Amino acid sequence: MTLKMIVQIKTAVEKHWVGDGFPVRTMFSYRSPVINASPFLLLDYAGPEDFKPTDKTRGVDKHPHRGFETVTIVYAGQLEHRDNAGHTGKIGAGDVQWMTAGRGVLHEEWHGTEFSKAGGIFEVVQLWVNLPIKDKMTKPKYQEITADRIPVLQGDGWHCRIIAGNYLGVQGAATTFSPINVWDIQAKAPAHQKIEIPEGYSTILLLRRGKITVNDTATLEAGHIMFFDTQGDTIELSILDDANFLLLSGEVINEPIVGAGPFVMHSKEALQQAYDDYREGSF
Ligand code: MN
Repeated sequence: MTLKMIVQIKTAVEKHWVGDGFPVRTMFSYRSPVINASPFLLLDYAGPEDFKPTDKTRGVDKHPHRGFETVTIVYAGQLEHRDNAGHTGKIGAGDVQWMTAGRGVLHEEWHGTEFSKAGGIFEVVQLWVNLPIKDKMTKPKYQEITADRIPVLQGDGWHCRIIAGNYLGVQGAATTFSPINVWDIQAKAPAHQKIEIPEGYSTILLLRRGKITVNDTATLEAGHIMFFDTQGDTIELSILDDANFLLLSGEVINEPIVGAGPFVMHSKEALQQAYDDYREGSF
């Protein structure tokens, strides 16, 4: 057993609005590189935010994506989605939308109608996952994963939803293009837990609630995010206060990343092509 070393902790990330529906903290982004985040490109954490009831629709109007996947995990509230190919979807608390933008999706993201009318707490994570170059132009697809379809591993005060990948032999719900683990965990305090994560995988922990000491060295509080070294195969958590956290890990994609706005490609030419195709209306 070798511990994965902690390489970075981010504690105070400022909020900005995406459209009028998403009060977002960008916890990390490939645009301001962090160490060992690949294959993960970006994580936007929206809320928790209390929205007043409204008849208006809050959200983000039509915009494109190419070259990666967006993974939207709803913790509270409701999201509606529409794309130019006629695909629509609605997800609520506990549900996940795994969207492969691939060669191109043009879509809108809104608060759900029922949620807008009722108001309440909204809390959503959107993760961007890179696609290997060979898959960047794959056909767009959606995996709409309702809460009841996500396998759960339950132990003593421990509840782990395996959204993607594999944990202790239990296979996750999503299909991925490269090896990725997305584990959504609730843990009761006090507890001490060792978690095995494959050697060579980048590893990221986002703490949403509670308090955790990691590897006996650093303590995280709600809203903090931690990045680990790829070397090593274990992390150690001491749960100090009942905790909810997202644990991401994945095989590093050792390929160039050239992105701007809603496109993440592998070369200047491929990025320019994305802009040209979008302008010519071929999305
Ligand atoms: Mn989008």
